[in-house]
Amino acid sequence: MTATATPAAKKSTYRPLELFDTDRLLDDDEREIAATVRKFVDTRLRPNVGEWFESATLPRELAKEFGKLGVLGMHLQGYGCAGTNAVSYGLACMELEAGDSGFRSFVSVQGSLSMFSIYRYGSEEQKNEWLPRLAAGDAIGCFGLTEPDFGSNPAGMRTRARRDGSDWVLNGTKMWITNGNLADVATVWARTGNGDRDISGFLVPTDTPGFTANEIHRKLSLRASVTSELVLDNVRLPGSAQLPLAEGLSAPLSCLNEARFGIVFGSLGAARDSLETAIDYAGSREVFDKPLTSYQLTQEKLANMTVELGKGMLLAIHLGRIKDAEEVRPEQISLGKLNNVREALAIARECRTLLGGSGITLEYSPLRHANNLESVLTYEGTSEMHLLSIGKALTGQAAFR
Ligand SMILES: Cc1cc2nc3c(=O)[nH]c(=O)nc-3n(C[C@H](O)[C@H](O)[C@H](O)COP(=O)(O)OP(=O)(O)OC[C@H]3O[C@@H](n4cnc5c(N)ncnc54)[C@H](O)[C@@H]3O)c2cc1C
Repeated sequence: MTATATPAAKKSTYRPLELFDTDRLLDDDEREIAATVRKFVDTRLRPNVGEWFESATLPRELAKEFGKLGVLGMHLQGYGCAGTNAVSYGLACMELEAGDSGFRSFVSVQGSLSMFSIYRYGSEEQKNEWLPRLAAGDAIGCFGLTEPDFGSNPAGMRTRARRDGSDWVLNGTKMWITNGNLADVATVWARTGNGDRDISGFLVPTDTPGFTANEIHRKLSLRASVTSELVLDNVRLPGSAQLPLAEGLSAPLSCLNEARFGIVFGSLGAARDSLETAIDYAGSREVFDKPLTSYQLTQEKLANMTVELGKGMLLAIHLGRIKDAEEVRPEQISLGKLNNVREALAIARECRTLLGGSGITLEYSPLRHANNLESVLTYEGTSEMHLLSIGKALTGQAAFR
């Protein structure tokens, strides 16, 4: 009697996520969007990423190419945006970050921070002025919340906006701002009074007198991404530059939540690419007269990493479905960001070990991904901040201070 082979049993090897069959949880549109972005990454970005990372550049013209691809503000409706669901946006982030966290960071900041702040809190005039250009990549946006002395605790910000007649005058410094030197418009968060609710958002065209962006150099992480200090020295803006619906710190925090959701998926792209690279390398690398993949120690590493990658993907899709149902809570996004970035970083580092000496060069992606993920671990709320927000959800007690 012959045993009936299942289709899966006929397959001799799997890519890590195939083992979880997570594609089965996606619909045709979602799979197609992921495939389209993956193709763009493979043909346009992957061949150049080593050079961009080494020279610490992100070519400005990529903005228009991302616009053409339809990934800028893709989860927003109207104003030239693609209007996809959250899962599709997450999958696009994942494919971009499989190329490099710098690409996903650009798209996250443009779509989820700059565009979302205008989309959610802007006037109709502000939306019509900026969103179609930002969606097309004809304009670039950045988002200035962090300051030199206030990162994890943005409530302490010192940047001030004061009224002068019908104008606003802004003074202060923002730090670690992605796309700062590329941007045409900056969403800047500033204090308008002394209370917690006295924080407002302002759209600052970057050619306004008194606005300066200084690029931060000598980075060891996110090198294919522009990071800047923004200086606002008596920047005079018309009253119409204020985002009319943004009141208090909850406004910028809601934008961060959008971007964090992209990271929940995105970080797994870096992990998947590291793991696939390591499996390919180990399969052709002979040590002690046998392929590296034939050793139990190697297989244990690969199996453990695959388990974490797949669990992270299940979590990401689950959170995406809850987000599409408009029911996701910030502490659930914290869970996803905390887990998936932490595990992605562990995977990228472990993959580097499998590559031996070759793993320290730009020929292979894992160490580049690991270095990038150090930034991803820190921005949009450090791991410690997400632990504290989960702790608060569990106990009802805030332990931030
Ligand atoms: C590459 C890059 C790009 C970025 N892009 C942007 C951007 O586009 N826009 C923007 O506004 N910001 C951006 N940031 C800033 C980022 O969000 C901050 O770096 C981050 O919030 C941490 O702030 P910090 O660097 O001031 O660190 P700190 O807040 O000084 O934290 C230092 C350490 O102390 C820990 N810590 C802080 N408070 C507590 C506590 N209560 N209990 C225990 N531990 C604590 C932190 O977790 C961390 O480990 C970017 C950062 C990087 C690195």
